[in-house]
Amino acid sequence: LSTLKSSTNGGKPSDVAIIVPSKPNALTVTYADLAKEVSSFQSKLAAIGITKGSAVSIATVNSYEFIVSFLASAWQRGVAAPLNPNYKQDEFEFYIEDVKSAVVLVPKGAYEAGAPAVKAAKRFNAAIAECYWDAGKGGVALDMKELGQLEGKGRKEVLEPQDEDIALVLHTSGTTSRPKVVPLTHRNLTRTMANIKATYELTPADSTMLVMPLFHVHGLLCGLLSPLYSGSSVIVPPKFSASDFWKDFSTYKANWYTAVPTIHQILLRNPPPNPKPAIRFIRSCSSPLSPSVFKQLEETYNAPVLEAYAMTEAAHQMTSNPLPSKGKRKPGSVGIGQGVEVKILREEDGEEVPQGQEGEICIKGSNVTKGYLNNPSANASAFHEKGNAGFFRTGDQGKKDEDGYVIITGRIKELINKGGEKISPIELDNLIARHPAVQEAVCFAVPDDMYGQDVGLAIVLKPGQKLGDKELKAWVAERVAKFKVPKKVYFTDVMPKTATGKIQRRIVAEEMMKMAK
Ligand code: ATP
Ligand code: MG
Repeated sequence: LSTLKSSTNGGKPSDVAIIVPSKPNALTVTYADLAKEVSSFQSKLAAIGITKGSAVSIATVNSYEFIVSFLASAWQRGVAAPLNPNYKQDEFEFYIEDVKSAVVLVPKGAYEAGAPAVKAAKRFNAAIAECYWDAGKGGVALDMKELGQLEGKGRKEVLEPQDEDIALVLHTSGTTSRPKVVPLTHRNLTRTMANIKATYELTPADSTMLVMPLFHVHGLLCGLLSPLYSGSSVIVPPKFSASDFWKDFSTYKANWYTAVPTIHQILLRNPPPNPKPAIRFIRSCSSPLSPSVFKQLEETYNAPVLEAYAMTEAAHQMTSNPLPSKGKRKPGSVGIGQGVEVKILREEDGEEVPQGQEGEICIKGSNVTKGYLNNPSANASAFHEKGNAGFFRTGDQGKKDEDGYVIITGRIKELINKGGEKISPIELDNLIARHPAVQEAVCFAVPDDMYGQDVGLAIVLKPGQKLGDKELKAWVAERVAKFKVPKKVYFTDVMPKTATGKIQRRIVAEEMMKMAK
């Protein structure tokens, strides 16, 4: 990240780095101003005792102060640990304990108000500081409230970061098990920034709307850091708003954005006014993009839609569909490795499967983490030791087509194991979602006396629709082998989802079984 210090991005110091659209006046920051601000904030962190390895938890919405404190922490050899500002106290406690936060940065007024992040920080004796844009002073303030464990640690010198320093720790989404803690070094992050810059040919002429939260790799790496690494401008609204999106997009002349499919779908329902902005490309990542949404997006915006595949452990991107000038894009596929080696390997021995066959998607590249923190059991099986030794196991199942494009077919840990017969829940979700009365369907494993596991189904019906348990099972049985027909059907009004709109099958399963008790 020190590359961001020395303007090696091909642009000029007077180019605009960040725009925060706020009323009445937007905040516009050049690369020169950003570097100055980050240095000054780095000194403030050093003054409270932040040094190599100190965890700096940032619990604010997407904002200029988030960006400045993140970069300053990294420059000071600290470990930034962004947290979803909407967490409840229990959740904050879980994460603050897990990453051993030295300081927790909260928004202005949070301390006085006894916000959940503040209460959680106190429990673990982390320092607490309010961090906000101080319009009067024209800078980012660090307003110390409690020194906690930093008490008496004293002022530390201002440091220079090293490639192997851990700059960021993030938890995985916890889709398949308890969220795992992923440490990412400067080298890991810089590799991803270079990969993303190359994939989409980002330059100082580009400008992007940041809509994904900065507390996950998608927003942080692709929405913010890679554009900065490329000398582009980043427009940073505090949160995604469908009504402001196209207004800001046009006003600040954005020409691309990256988001999860849920956000693309919301935007399709709030299309841009005429004349439509000229969009260079739209990137979709983090969840499967259905071919029908892909088509709708391309038709509505007259721009190529590039689906990518990413994970926390890879500091975000692994594969992407290419720009039209570099190759074809395929709906339903996540494209090809982008600066990352991607192989489909057999679980047992790490050998490559023949082209077209399914196996585990495995990756290698200097963007990939060396291993989880405090998790020997996960680390023991994270990398292959035989066959293609050193390849990281994504836990995703997939195959390559004749052009080497990767198609994700499911998650290994989510496969429902019915007496040795493996059932893909995604296949069933997609099938059941085609029933005219069904809005959303999520399948998962439920314990079964006879088979060990059987198929459970959580289902949300379209408004005003009725559908019985028996009728649905009969409909499914006409379309798939009998052993795949859901055994237990749970009707629900809302499907539990994460902040990023992800389905966590494990949580859905727990909630449905709790509800049924
Ligand atoms: P955990 O590892 O704790 O179970 P998680 O894997 O959901 O949670 P993340 O690192 O946020 O945590 O997500 C990475 C996963 O998201 C990938 O392994 C893959 O399953 C899924 N994913 C990412 N991009 C896509 C995509 N384009 N299509 C389908 N799935 C995707
Ligand atoms: Mg994962």
